Amino acid sequence: MIGPIGLTGRIGLIRTTNIVGHSTLPVDHLEPLKGWGGAVASAAYVFRPSTVEQLREAFQVARETGRTITLRGAGRSYGDAALGRENVAIDFTRMNRILEWDPTNGIITCEPGVTIAQLWRYVIEDGYWPPVVPGTMFVTLGGALGMNLHGKNNFKAGPIGDHVLSFDFLSAAGDEHHINRETEADLFYSIIGSFGMFGCFTRITLKMKRVYSGDLDVKVFECANLSELFKLYDKQLPESDYLVGWIDAFASGAGFGRSIVHQANYLAAGVDPTPTQSLRAEHQDLPDTILGLMPKSIMWIFLRPFTNALGMKFVNWAKFVSSRISPKKQLRQAHAAFAFLLDYVPNWKKSYGHGGLIQFQSFVPKESAEQVFHKQIERCQAEKLVPYLAVFKRHRLDGFLMTHAVDGYSLALDFKVTRKNREKLWKLTEKLNAIVLAAGGRFYMAKDATLTPEAFRQYLGDETLARFRELKKRFDPEGILESELSRRLLPARD
Ligand SMILES: Cc1cc2nc3c(=O)[nH]c(=O)nc-3n(C[C@H](O)[C@H](O)[C@H](O)COP(=O)(O)OP(=O)(O)OC[C@H]3O[C@@H](n4cnc5c(N)ncnc54)[C@H](O)[C@@H]3O)c2cc1C
Repeated sequence: MIGPIGLTGRIGLIRTTNIVGHSTLPVDHLEPLKGWGGAVASAAYVFRPSTVEQLREAFQVARETGRTITLRGAGRSYGDAALGRENVAIDFTRMNRILEWDPTNGIITCEPGVTIAQLWRYVIEDGYWPPVVPGTMFVTLGGALGMNLHGKNNFKAGPIGDHVLSFDFLSAAGDEHHINRETEADLFYSIIGSFGMFGCFTRITLKMKRVYSGDLDVKVFECANLSELFKLYDKQLPESDYLVGWIDAFASGAGFGRSIVHQANYLAAGVDPTPTQSLRAEHQDLPDTILGLMPKSIMWIFLRPFTNALGMKFVNWAKFVSSRISPKKQLRQAHAAFAFLLDYVPNWKKSYGHGGLIQFQSFVPKESAEQVFHKQIERCQAEKLVPYLAVFKRHRLDGFLMTHAVDGYSLALDFKVTRKNREKLWKLTEKLNAIVLAAGGRFYMAKDATLTPEAFRQYLGDETLARFRELKKRFDPEGILESELSRRLLPARD
């Protein structure tokens, strides 16, 4: 099992740098790596190629030293998807060039290490914005396609893969493919979302979204309980470009599931009187200080005393109440300020302490979502393991083989991990899994740290898994690509 942070201590145990019959891996490439949440960690020999030739060389090093390989973008997956204990880790962050950009049609071609931050900064002054972005701008495009990430507009725009036109792909076996969405649809929809198990995206072409302002029209709603939240979503969905909810998971009784919802819409052409100004990259920059005084880089230190059950109960309550009493129910907000709320306080995860955090995100069909999320929050409260943050989104079906999407809703629950609660928390997620699976729900590998192979099989189904294994055999016959997540969820078969 992958080690909790603080218990890794494996570096000293690696005695296999000189495997009999293999050459030696350079010890100076050995680095401790963590899942973004910090609750899982391991050490790997990290290589950072900046060209496809160097990428091939890293594969060669792994083969010569008898190691498997884990692909890694910015390491923003919460759990163990980009970790591989004692593997070679190929980190794509130096393959970060924007190769082609055509502002007349919004089509851009990038290397896989280009981040969403680089992307929006590059295109915004020409009147474009990435069509799908996650809650942080620091992910790479390779990682984004590896997981096929979604944004707060998933119900309308689908996942990022729906905006990709083509990509170049170096399979683990070493062959290069150019995969076009129209002409190689089967491979296109199977490789995107395959969590680094078949090979590497080396060049990605996607279409940006035309925008006529650097701002969005944002509306704020409060819902007194869970059932009001679902009703509000039904009502607002047809007229929203983005919709996201925060549930106070501590609230009970009549206020169970009380929540705040933010709706955002693009501005039509001609509505923004000064688009040249709002489309400046500087207009999107998140402020460095709070109230112009306190540097945000140290904010996490002030959050730390609150990062416990009592403190977070207060924070959730205060957030809800301050939103309810605020007269500001409509505002103009820059795209980045709306999209990347989780980047506002740098290093906020440090406030969770040494054990870090895990996120449990489940996706449930619309017919049963309210009941399932009710049961989940109730179970968390009963076990006194209440998530400190609970984020609610609407989704739609898509055509990708390893999809996490449903025609329904997702709830993402952030749990603090400590040495004391770790075992109980993992058991709780098994109980939450069972509730989701019984309702035909799904999970998302970008967030996962706790799923079991059986739950993985159940939500994907045998047919999908058989197709996945067939492609794995075709593109990676030696099984050289692995991660802690794949070892956990796809144990070797007899
Ligand atoms: C604060 C925060 C908010 C988030 N919000 C959202 C959200 O709203 N929606 C959402 O969908 N996700 C969200 N995420 C999750 C994040 O978007 C995904 O985990 C994403 O995959 C991370 O990208 P990365 O570059 O860090 O990739 P990594 O985490 O390093 O890798 C992700 C996967 O891609 C594979 N991979 C990486 N590079 C390549 C490559 N070049 N070729 C092939 N495979 C590759 C890896 O093997 C791994 O399986 C959030 C994460 C954080 C930390």
